[in-house]
Amino acid sequence: MNLPGSPHVAYRGDDLSLEGQSVSALAQRFGTPLYAYSKTAMLDAVAAYQRALVGRDHLVCYAVKANSNLAVLQVFAQAGCGFDIVSSGELHRVIAAGGDPAKVVFSGIGKTRAEMAHALQVGVMCFNVESEAELELLSEVAVQAGRTATVSLRVNPDVDAGTHPYISTGLKGNKFGIAHERAVATYRRAAALPGLAVAGIDCHIGSQITDTTPYLDALDRVLDLVEAVEAAGIPIHHLDLGGGLGITYTDEVPPSAEVLVKLLLQRIDARGHGHRKVVFEPGRSLVGNAGVLVSEVLYLKPGEQKNFCIVDAAMNDLARPAMYEAWMGIVACTRRDEPPTRMDVVGPVCESGDWLGRDRDLAVHAGDHIAVLSAGAYGMSMASNYNTRGRAAEVLVSGDEAWLVREREQPADLFKGERLLPAR
Ligand SMILES: *Cc1c(COP(=O)(O)O)cnc(C)c1O
Repeated sequence: MNLPGSPHVAYRGDDLSLEGQSVSALAQRFGTPLYAYSKTAMLDAVAAYQRALVGRDHLVCYAVKANSNLAVLQVFAQAGCGFDIVSSGELHRVIAAGGDPAKVVFSGIGKTRAEMAHALQVGVMCFNVESEAELELLSEVAVQAGRTATVSLRVNPDVDAGTHPYISTGLKGNKFGIAHERAVATYRRAAALPGLAVAGIDCHIGSQITDTTPYLDALDRVLDLVEAVEAAGIPIHHLDLGGGLGITYTDEVPPSAEVLVKLLLQRIDARGHGHRKVVFEPGRSLVGNAGVLVSEVLYLKPGEQKNFCIVDAAMNDLARPAMYEAWMGIVACTRRDEPPTRMDVVGPVCESGDWLGRDRDLAVHAGDHIAVLSAGAYGMSMASNYNTRGRAAEVLVSGDEAWLVREREQPADLFKGERLLPAR
């Protein structure tokens, strides 16, 4: 039976499987809570972008923050991807995974002097600069290091991506990007500063976008600016259109990456910009549907108003429901031939916001495994140690192989680096 999301996550008989491997068997072998990812699903997702970009000067930069496991980065590096990073820590990860720094774009509104120096030293492809103040500092750091920083300006096109306010980034009231009206003046400043080389323009309007209209509107605004900036004598080589494409969690019907990219390329060509290199920064759409979070049912707690299914995964493992009230599919790893009960699936953390799903119809007993679907993006990468809970293990499944790509955290890991006061 097919589930929303990836064809690589499906029931075989009554058993949930990932690339044909039993998810319950993975849980027994590696323990729970467990993130399990399909390598094939990731490769299929990146291939959809690449198919649409064949014959065009392009780079798909995987947005590391969606899932920053080294093995995941390695898969994308081997598939020819560059990376979109937002911190020096992510840059260290990309390099440790075998990624090419020359294919890295560095985004984010709060880059520190040390982060800029690190990125210059390893030679990233481009800094996506988000403010005039950042431009000034980057110029200073580059001159000091005796290097040239290649820059794009991230412009804020002021379009509504129609997504959750916390993950919408392209509106005037958001903290991201340079206002449309300030863009030409800021490009002039960039061109005049020492240590900088203007290369491109960048925008990223939000996340979990399920409609093509905001993308096309943003693109038009960006191309208007490119024309204005070039008219001011500053050449723009590449167009970075960011990430943000949504996935199917339940009944969303986002465009496929192939359709979206083709539409954008058509508009780029129609407006006479077809010679430019194009860059995309997808995160969620490359990994979201590729992963599940597997958890064991600890207790069933029937109540007068609500029934609770208490599982061993919690908001510290998967923050999306608690943080954005995100709806994520939850299924039994082994289907029982019993009528389901309506319940809230909750974790052990001491917060009422600690739930994974509300009012779900499930037929499960204590000791069964459940899987939260489409948990490959913004799952493990947002996990914390709240309640001094060790972070989950991660496995990457490929065909009939399963590789442990991150060990479960052990008690000694949980207070590593902490110090007691001196005895007196
Ligand atoms: C988060 C982010 C992305 C990736 O967004 P997705 O919605 O995961 O595709 C791309 N670019 C920037 C600048 C980001 O902050």
